Amino acid sequence: ALAGLFEVNRSTIITAIDELTSYGIVSGRHGAGTQISSNTWSLFLPTTNWNEYLKSGSFQENNVMIQAINELEFEPDIIRIGTGEIDPRLFSKSMWSATLQKVGSKLTSLGYLENLGLLELRQAIAKHLEKSGIMVGPENVLITSGSLQALQLIAVCLLQKGSTVFTEAPSYLKSLQMFQSTGMNLKGIPMDKNGLEYWKLSSITKQNSSILYTIPTNQNPTGITMSKKRRYELMNYCVDNRLPIIEDGAYQELSYNAVTAKTLKSIDDNEMVIYLGTASKTLAPGLRIGWVVASKPIVDRLGDVKMQMDYGASSLSQWALTEFLNSGAYDSYLSDLKIELESRRDKALKSLEKYFKDLANWNRPDGGFYIWLTFKKDIKIERLFDAAIKEKILLNSGDIYDFKENHSLRLSFAYINSDEFDQAIRKLSEIVKGMC
Ligand code: PMP
Repeated sequence: ALAGLFEVNRSTIITAIDELTSYGIVSGRHGAGTQISSNTWSLFLPTTNWNEYLKSGSFQENNVMIQAINELEFEPDIIRIGTGEIDPRLFSKSMWSATLQKVGSKLTSLGYLENLGLLELRQAIAKHLEKSGIMVGPENVLITSGSLQALQLIAVCLLQKGSTVFTEAPSYLKSLQMFQSTGMNLKGIPMDKNGLEYWKLSSITKQNSSILYTIPTNQNPTGITMSKKRRYELMNYCVDNRLPIIEDGAYQELSYNAVTAKTLKSIDDNEMVIYLGTASKTLAPGLRIGWVVASKPIVDRLGDVKMQMDYGASSLSQWALTEFLNSGAYDSYLSDLKIELESRRDKALKSLEKYFKDLANWNRPDGGFYIWLTFKKDIKIERLFDAAIKEKILLNSGDIYDFKENHSLRLSFAYINSDEFDQAIRKLSEIVKGMC
């Protein structure tokens, strides 16, 4: 509206509002208007200099679109068609209460734990990893407070400010932010349907402590799974070029096919790969449990710093996950979850076929949560986001996963059920047709 009133470019207004927002002078979010902050004037009083402090921290602020998504996710009646989390309605109360009761009856203390985390959990994870072809002992496993913390530990313990981190483009938003905030230099490498186009890494200038971060299985946000051939080629390339790999296996266990793609870690004969796992995508992000699998000097170094950071992950969560793994409850729950997700994937693809055939292209994921949709026409994603919010549909726009990408959406069939997905996709197609 302002743009029309003053006859200036819309992007000039958006940039000005972003700047005022960054100083805390105005607040607001996409689709809900912008207001002058109630505490604005106090920030200018000579007695307070919090504004300087607010700008000083080493972590960057989320951009306005991400802040809007984080807030809107918790609005009532909002349809979250991009959320990377299991539908809360699939939470099994009986499984959790049985498991937690057993944990409660076995607990003798809840003290601090050793540097690498609860031994019983590390043993259970090492055994569980055999299914992914990873043969390690508990001394090679470090428990972290979610796998995002594992990335932070890697950044602050193993990399240097200015190190290059190669990632898939697009890639998982929070990992990108973590590397950016810890001072790394990000370089996105494109993917095709077989995964990372590793030969495009050839501009690598063998700098010290550069590293590749990859999500080879059911990738976030595209859903692409790297082919077997590509995995071997990538490993050879990285060995030849001495480029170590962080393999993020967040969705490794969520492939629907009987034969799951082998982890890079399982074909790593040269200690090139640091493997990351998490309970967040299969079981519950609220547990805040992830794990790092690597050679002993690496897990020891990360474990030492983890102690300095937060004294270890929640011991209650560690006992709970140990019980899930050792009792077999985790495995049977996981196979039911995959059946549900596969059926949701199939129905989601049918909905897209019904409403988006002429409007966009998308892929068919072999597992995980996500479909990556790219519009055929030049749709302004910010406008679409705002229009969708008016219909109570919350989108995850592609630009937050790849700063250059502006015609795509990450769709998730994990958080909402198939009927909700179908209705949201129908409404969205109407909005898009109105914009073409
Ligand atoms: N890696 C990827 C690829 C993810 O999608 C996520 C969660 N969205 C994470 C890591 C972070 O998981 P955690 O909750 O274990 O920190």
